[in-house]
Amino acid sequence: MENNHKTVWEQCLEVIKDNLGEQNKDAYKTWFLPIVPVQLEGSILTIQVPSYFFYDWLEVHYIDLIHRTIKLILGPEGQLKYSIVMDQSIAEKPIFTQLPSSPSHNATANRPKDIAMALNLSADGSKDLPNPFLFPGMQEIKIDSQLSESYTLTNFVEGNCNRLARAAGQAIAENPGKTAFNPLLIHGGVGLGKTHLANAIGLRCKELHPNLQVLYVTSEQFLQQYQNAGRDGTTNDFIYFYEMIDVLIIDDIQFWANKAPRTQEAFFHIFNYLHQRGKQIIITSDKAPSELSGLEPRLLSRLKWGLSADLVAPDVETRIGILKQKLANDGIDMPYDVIEYIAYNINSNVRELEGALISLVAQSSLNRRQITIDLAKQMIDKFVKSTTREITIDYIQKVVCDYFGLPIDSIQTQTRKREIVQARQLTMYFAKKMTKSSLAIIGLQCGNKDHATVLHACKQIANLVESDKQFKYWVDDIEKRFRDE
Ligand code: ADP
Ligand code: MG
Repeated sequence: MENNHKTVWEQCLEVIKDNLGEQNKDAYKTWFLPIVPVQLEGSILTIQVPSYFFYDWLEVHYIDLIHRTIKLILGPEGQLKYSIVMDQSIAEKPIFTQLPSSPSHNATANRPKDIAMALNLSADGSKDLPNPFLFPGMQEIKIDSQLSESYTLTNFVEGNCNRLARAAGQAIAENPGKTAFNPLLIHGGVGLGKTHLANAIGLRCKELHPNLQVLYVTSEQFLQQYQNAGRDGTTNDFIYFYEMIDVLIIDDIQFWANKAPRTQEAFFHIFNYLHQRGKQIIITSDKAPSELSGLEPRLLSRLKWGLSADLVAPDVETRIGILKQKLANDGIDMPYDVIEYIAYNINSNVRELEGALISLVAQSSLNRRQITIDLAKQMIDKFVKSTTREITIDYIQKVVCDYFGLPIDSIQTQTRKREIVQARQLTMYFAKKMTKSSLAIIGLQCGNKDHATVLHACKQIANLVESDKQFKYWVDDIEKRFRDE
């Protein structure tokens, strides 16, 4: 009978629909209506599904139901065969795979491998999964990468705070998907350069490998797209689209924590699909993997497969480097002491550093005033007041060293030279007096000393101020510089 497979499938659909019930009407529409029955050979029914994702999804969620249904309609010998056809217009021939016959067969961490294995036994005997891009007509497709041209690797200033992440990024851009850094998880607090770096890796990938499909999306966009697709019945298009990507960048994945289980699940499948095929995945998060507990455990475990590199707040040299780079970029001249002043005083994150620079430049051009250290002081006061600015230990070290004409790194040396020991003690004294840092932290930052040394220094300076007029003058004079801030 010509139409036998259709009739059989219609009967199956009835059973499935019935079993899913009214509350799963949408699931029925999404996952069962698009299936096309292809043929019936003996008691083997072949159905066609539009993607590996789809196949994977059916197997994970509905294998029991499908299995029971097939046995019910076709008898105990009944079997199901899948034909995965990506898109009739581009795929030349379907790829066959067989549903594992045991109903207890369940999705495991190795799902994609299983699929690959099933495909090794495929009708045409090919060993590898076909790349949809090799089909004629597909080469032309160019997606919008959503990358910003201004966040490049060249203008991502290197420092201790980002060296590992940056180097990994460079390696990835040269060989996307082929390094051990897959996925690359970049994490760190706000404003520390996660988006910039992830974007920069994407740009460099495109530059070095123009044929690769690179895509940057925020996790929020991804979620929105997925939900819209569900609503509009275009989940399959959504999945095709993501399965085409060679370098997928998802920004701010912490956004999914404790919500969006379905989105996470969809991403989990896409992740597996891409990773299995050597595609590069780059993810950013403002939390370390250990703190991302609101994500699905199996997704979280995937994120730990590759490299997890953190970005921390830049040290003062890097802050100066970043400021200089931004100024050079915009062709703005600024006296070096002003640059230093900003770098020493704004140490929270790079975004604030940039913000301070921008408002200073704006102030000066609006009021036609020279950019001077005074203007910088006024502006930073205004800029940082709301965040209750505290003088930093770095800055105290700088002022003290400048005062005595010593190089700033001398504080960190182990020398016993009197003037350096004294400068170090003065720094500790002012740090104790003017910051909220603990003795231990102060010691650590001033030549890696312990808290007892700091306490001793504070007593020593207090004694000297009492007993030595000249010394008292210096201390007052230095203190005045801090007060003028
Ligand atoms: P995040 O995504 O971590 O919140 P962003 O990537 O948005 O941070 O960075 C904030 C701003 O700081 C951006 O304008 C970015 O260009 C800049 N920035 C951060 N790190 C660096 C760096 N190492 N070199 C140059 N600019 C940086
Ligand atoms: Mg960001």
